[in-house]
Amino acid sequence: MEEEEIAKTAKPKAKKDVAPGRVIDTYAAQCDKCHKWRVIDSQDEYEEVRSKMLEDPFNCEKKQGRSCEEAADIDYDSSRTWVIDKPGIPKTPKGFKRSLVLRKDYSKMDTYYITPTGKKLRSRNEIAAFVDANPEFKNAAPLGDFNFTVPKVMEDTIPSDLKLASPIVTSDKRISKQ
Ligand SMILES: [Zn+2]
Repeated sequence: MEEEEIAKTAKPKAKKDVAPGRVIDTYAAQCDKCHKWRVIDSQDEYEEVRSKMLEDPFNCEKKQGRSCEEAADIDYDSSRTWVIDKPGIPKTPKGFKRSLVLRKDYSKMDTYYITPTGKKLRSRNEIAAFVDANPEFKNAAPLGDFNFTVPKVMEDTIPSDLKLASPIVTSDKRISKQ
């Protein structure tokens, strides 16, 4: 049952972008009624949908002027790598940015937050220390709104030529130094 809830929100990702950035380039949510995938235009809007997913499931009508009769915006297939998010993750506090990066071996994603001052925070402890040192964020950015839950990388969408895609270093220099 939990799995079903999870499948309602996903962040698909184009294969081409994997090597340089390994970051999400497309956001999508699945309609609760017809199960088609709708592309969500921005991370902000996506986070809004995700945060309310449990109480207020997404459907086609929530995307302006759309209906379940229309073709899906995007299909779940292996033409891109999909990562499925957990519903109910709070919206990122204003001024902060939540980033997800896929590991090179596609094993999992890592979450971090970027503060309004450009600092990268990788754990709850780092967030707590930052808010302690910068009490002006205490009200706008409660600790409970930071969440390090990562989406699940969908194995059936991981490219099969993964090994070929990894860089191969065969530099003579490097060898002679060792
Ligand atoms: Zn629909």
